[in-house]
Amino acid sequence: MPNKRVRPEILDFTPYVPGLSVEEIKAKYGLETVIKLASNENPLGPSPLVVEAIARAAGEVHRYPQNHSPRLCQAIGEAMGVPAETVVAGNGSDEIIDLLMRVVARPGQDNVLCYEHCFSMYGLTARLCGVRYCEVPRGDDYRLPLESLAEAVDAQTALVFVTSPDNPTGLAAKAEELMVLSGVLPAGAILVVDEAYMDFTWPPEEYSMISLAQELGNVVVLRTFSKAYGLAGLRLGYGVLPLWLAEHVRRARPPFTVNLVAEEAALAALGDDNYYSSTLEVIFTGRERLLKRLPELGCQVWPSQANFVMFKPPRPAGKVCEELLRRGIIVRHLKSFGLAENIRVNVGTKAETEAFLTTLEAVLNG
Ligand code: PMP
Repeated sequence: MPNKRVRPEILDFTPYVPGLSVEEIKAKYGLETVIKLASNENPLGPSPLVVEAIARAAGEVHRYPQNHSPRLCQAIGEAMGVPAETVVAGNGSDEIIDLLMRVVARPGQDNVLCYEHCFSMYGLTARLCGVRYCEVPRGDDYRLPLESLAEAVDAQTALVFVTSPDNPTGLAAKAEELMVLSGVLPAGAILVVDEAYMDFTWPPEEYSMISLAQELGNVVVLRTFSKAYGLAGLRLGYGVLPLWLAEHVRRARPPFTVNLVAEEAALAALGDDNYYSSTLEVIFTGRERLLKRLPELGCQVWPSQANFVMFKPPRPAGKVCEELLRRGIIVRHLKSFGLAENIRVNVGTKAETEAFLTTLEAVLNG
């Protein structure tokens, strides 16, 4: 009986697989130090201004936060050059994906579309909402298949997801290509451009859709504070939505999902230009180093615009990951993305990136 009570979508649901944690690996292999390069987090730790803001906010946690985080949405709007009313803040951009799905995709009727080997939350969220999830194949070398997406859309398509820069390949689509896709979508379909890693592109204005979302009318842009702003543990992301949609999403949103401490931390992070530019510097330098050194070690690499690099080692990727773990380095085996031959490693501090490369060399030669 109890199982009969549970929705079928839940009974055969495969949950999200997060990267392994430092504590898990320390315990499993009896290690004292572990370097985690598996979840695309900011290697610099939190901004000192954020740490101060959190300490100040601690004395206020008996209060509810302001619903919809209006001060934060105002600050995001100013920083990104978009109207504050079009910004919806959420408990990670994961929450905005969930809200979009529930607000626009009708269970049992509509479908949502992405391409193979993509970030799993789009499919998982669709499934939980009882919405059909479809994937198109990628182009050669895992290119983002924007034309195939345009061809696969039908009258029941509610959302089309493109991650740019893409997780896990690091490849990015140009804004002009995405404008073409937005222009050919049938009325009713919304293009969601997940820009979680947009901070790491260069030059960002050639790639980002954030300033175009309003005039195009059928584009949503997702951003997060988890990467360049170093707040992954506080859970804060946002969407920039056409005004008509932002209003409905705000109405549907459970109250207070962005907590008071996270809001203060994000306000401080937005104001810390030094931290942001130090982050970009460490990522750009480390990414260049990985893209140069990995091929010298016999690995195939993809040209990344993100804070990580996907590569295919000359030996089985699962074994390579296991050997790296034993030596205290956590990277992401891409089996759960359907890419069992590939590994994703995020840029660490200079010392972490070098430790990874030295250890990888030892593993490949061992
Ligand atoms: N989109 C993509 C493409 C991601 O890789 C991630 C983080 N893994 C997210 C969204 C979710 O980010 P957040 O921490 O804001 O929920």
